[in-house]
Amino acid sequence: MPTTTAAVARTSTRPRLFTPGPVEIPVRILRAMSGPQPHHRTDVFRATFKKVTADLQWLHQTQGEVLMIAASGTGALEAAVVNFMAPGEKALVLVGGKFGERWANICKAYGVPYDSIVVDWGHSIDPAEVDRRLAADPSIRTVFGTQSETSTATVYDIQSLARVIRARSRRFIVDAITGVGVHPLPQDDWGVDVVITGSQKGLMSPPGLGTVSIAPWALADIEGDRLPRFYWDLRKARKNLPAGESAWTPAVSLIFAVEEAIAMMKEEGLEQVHQRHARLGAAVRAGGQKLGFTLFSRSPANGVTALEPPAGVDASAVVKRLREVHGITVAGGQDHMKGKMIRIGHMGAYDLSDMYVVLGALEECVNAAGVSAGGAIEAARLAWGSV
Ligand SMILES: *Cc1c(COP(=O)(O)O)cnc(C)c1O
Repeated sequence: MPTTTAAVARTSTRPRLFTPGPVEIPVRILRAMSGPQPHHRTDVFRATFKKVTADLQWLHQTQGEVLMIAASGTGALEAAVVNFMAPGEKALVLVGGKFGERWANICKAYGVPYDSIVVDWGHSIDPAEVDRRLAADPSIRTVFGTQSETSTATVYDIQSLARVIRARSRRFIVDAITGVGVHPLPQDDWGVDVVITGSQKGLMSPPGLGTVSIAPWALADIEGDRLPRFYWDLRKARKNLPAGESAWTPAVSLIFAVEEAIAMMKEEGLEQVHQRHARLGAAVRAGGQKLGFTLFSRSPANGVTALEPPAGVDASAVVKRLREVHGITVAGGQDHMKGKMIRIGHMGAYDLSDMYVVLGALEECVNAAGVSAGGAIEAARLAWGSV
């Protein structure tokens, strides 16, 4: 007898993104970027450029300067390295996952000598250890870290790290690409020299715009003998900023997108945005655990959640079924966690109802794998209300 495979019945009518970047783009933002585009050397656009720069200062809570560059987040990370590091100067890189490693890889590419503090995936970085390393090696001038390590869905304590790094008069450069708009990071208050973002994460926009936020006391640090730089030369970006101009052709449509994204954040209130993400994180964690998943991170982030499936459930099969049956895209694990976990993104314009959608679908996937589980939605609702 020939065997037939029953076609998997699709239950969704539209694709939904629950990935830790790119994230679902709100209709408001799509609309804001879809109008006729002004030329970038016009008064109309200069006004927008200045306004969005000020909006970004508001977002980062800095009196310094926020420079926009046309690149995905990694370009902004590289810009930070080449503009702040003098040739031969040594760095300390904090590594707890793929994005910590990226700092190390950029340093390697530019011949920057560096030491690393490496922790197991899902574990946080101990500020006391950073303090010891800085005390032991006065030649380290700059520390590169990550606020929210997207590969492990882990948030690091930037405030405490910044405190020890500043107390030792070193520079702290933070990749906050999945942190900004999710977790608080008041740059000037916490004493963080440089903060990096990218448009396709907490900023709810398409990919392609990176930002480098420089605290007031660190602005002069990009002057002088630094690593080779041309396109990434932030001195050129700074020079043109007062006129509302970028050094090169800017990512015009993305700047309109980010303007709308920050307008949305201002309407909701920054504290409320952070609070909502705390609730989203709590809801997904509770719902996932109710279904028998194990939380991967010891210090879970609020913009992305990493879950290891219960025995008998294959993570890759869940990722596939979520997409094919439910129209939902989530991320899997990377490197040694490939095929072993799922990562659900919930940064940006998500709400509790969105979490019901992804958890309801996840519940179906677990049951389809033959493991009986339920109650995720109620667990999520209770957790949301308890934060
Ligand atoms: C997404 C992300 C980046 C940047 O990646 P791009 O693909 O270059 O935008 C960097 N760091 C973290 C923590 C991220 O999540």
